[in-house]
Amino acid sequence: MYALASTDELTGVFNRRRLLEMAEGVRRMADDGNACVALLDLDYFKQVNDTCGHLAGDQVIRVACKTIIQHCREGDVVGRYGGEELLVCLPNSTLEHGMGVAERIREALAANTIFHDDHAIPVTAGIGVAAWREGETLSQWLRRADDALYEAKRSGRNRCVAAA
Ligand code: GH3
Ligand code: MG
Ligand code: MG
Repeated sequence: MYALASTDELTGVFNRRRLLEMAEGVRRMADDGNACVALLDLDYFKQVNDTCGHLAGDQVIRVACKTIIQHCREGDVVGRYGGEELLVCLPNSTLEHGMGVAERIREALAANTIFHDDHAIPVTAGIGVAAWREGETLSQWLRRADDALYEAKRSGRNRCVAAA
């Protein structure tokens, strides 16, 4: 019961509510160290649904979660922040480490073409990465990651941007 209430049905990663609780935990632990968040949004995802169908879209979200998990270490938190937006919280991580993880996830996604009904679906994502700043609330921290994600989209997509 408890696991069901905490996980997203489609992907098995944390649902938004549980994700935000876990992210707050990571932020509190960061009081004496580093922590990073990486906010990922799939590129041109509406087009995937429109051309390949909603089920194909669902499949792409699942694969994206698997790919993210493959690049995480124990203690990292992965969850579904919104429809095709996924959040990774990295405890004990500098911005440099967070950017390295995000870049490896980005590359793995782009390299892994997904096939659905013999259609090749290219999958890329924009990722905004933010290191926690002393005194910052969770929403301020996530806001900076979201701003960086916006910049990743604006500057061409399929890229990682570090938050200012
Ligand atoms: P951008 O590159 O700017 O991110 O473009 P985008 O097309 O990805 O734009 P946007 O983020 O606005 O679109 C998200 C789309 O994701 C819209 C919505 O229909 C779809 N979506 C959200 N949740 C799900 C889901 O669970 N399954 C499927 N198949 N689609 C979803
Ligand atoms: Mg989106
Ligand atoms: Mg998108």
